[in-house]
Amino acid sequence: MSLAAEPAGLPGGGSEAFGAAPISAIKTRVVSAPYRRPFRISSGVSNELISLVVEVHTADGDVGIGETSPMTAYTGETLAGVQAAIEEHLAPALIGRDPLDRAGAHVTMDAVLRGQQVAKAGLDIALFDLAGRISGWPVHALLGGSIRDRVQTTWVVGLGTLDEMAAEAAEYADRGFMHLKVKGGHDPAKDLELIRAVRAAIPADAELCLDANEGYDATTALPYLTKMSAAGLTLLEQPLPRWDLTGLVRLRDRLDVRVMVDESMHSLHDALEIARRGAADVLNIKILKVGGLHRALQIAAVAEAAGLAVKVGSMPELGVATLAAVHLAAAVPGATVAADLVGPLMVDEDPLAPTVFADCDGWIDVPKRPGLGHDV
Ligand SMILES: [Mg+2]
Repeated sequence: MSLAAEPAGLPGGGSEAFGAAPISAIKTRVVSAPYRRPFRISSGVSNELISLVVEVHTADGDVGIGETSPMTAYTGETLAGVQAAIEEHLAPALIGRDPLDRAGAHVTMDAVLRGQQVAKAGLDIALFDLAGRISGWPVHALLGGSIRDRVQTTWVVGLGTLDEMAAEAAEYADRGFMHLKVKGGHDPAKDLELIRAVRAAIPADAELCLDANEGYDATTALPYLTKMSAAGLTLLEQPLPRWDLTGLVRLRDRLDVRVMVDESMHSLHDALEIARRGAADVLNIKILKVGGLHRALQIAAVAEAAGLAVKVGSMPELGVATLAAVHLAAAVPGATVAADLVGPLMVDEDPLAPTVFADCDGWIDVPKRPGLGHDV
């Protein structure tokens, strides 16, 4: 029996009794905004944040708006590929379905197209926004509730000179950001100097995370990481290549600093394997890389079962996808590591949610309006 064999229509009993007419149309459009400063990580530099807005319409005229953004060097998906995946494969499979049946939507999407989590995430976010607007509930209520009224965010410092990076970290710490993440990964000796410089520039009780974006090997990096830990590094993100879970276990055994996986964890199955192997203390759950909020919540449950903390990460993305991350971080009890809600703060003006993230001091209020809480 195939779970995917359901015909179009309203499988699973349907939600017509709640006033939800079937999905009638799915549309996409590209939006972009220039970065305030070019964003540089170990895989390259970007001048512009480019996203795809995804609209899901029902036959009654209700609309849910989602957003997705491929960050190609990281996910392997491209903007054109994501758009084609949605328009040519996923939308035809979802049209006619019950818009409130999000679990069924994932079964259907996985049946017609393997992988392509970024494309599926855009649709998943739009379906959550739509369900919230139809029901009158904010998205966090659909995710189980809101155990936080506001969510703390990290400031992420892209690659630059040591002086530039320390100055930027200090600037944002002054604005109230008590979790600073710096990018590194090219050279552990230079990163040790960076950690010392940034640590000296920010408050003693601020969290300091280094994201090496897979740049180290365990043997070379270990002595430097030991010194970084002594110098006040409190969180180490993806130090090793994504496949090297054995190396991550080795680092965890030898370091006092918490280890977080990002590139190693793109699915529920990755999360389970990392938990089984003891390869991390923290899972970085990015809604776009795991296929949406539905999958993110499942992964958070694996983390909880394994005693792992959660960071709600980002690609980065603009305001709609970032709002989805705010609702997730509000709803997941184990999301105790500050989230990365920085995309809208990295552009001159966010075209999707210009007011929600303006003048951020390190905290974002959780929207109480139906759906995600944007005006797109
Ligand atoms: Mg990362």
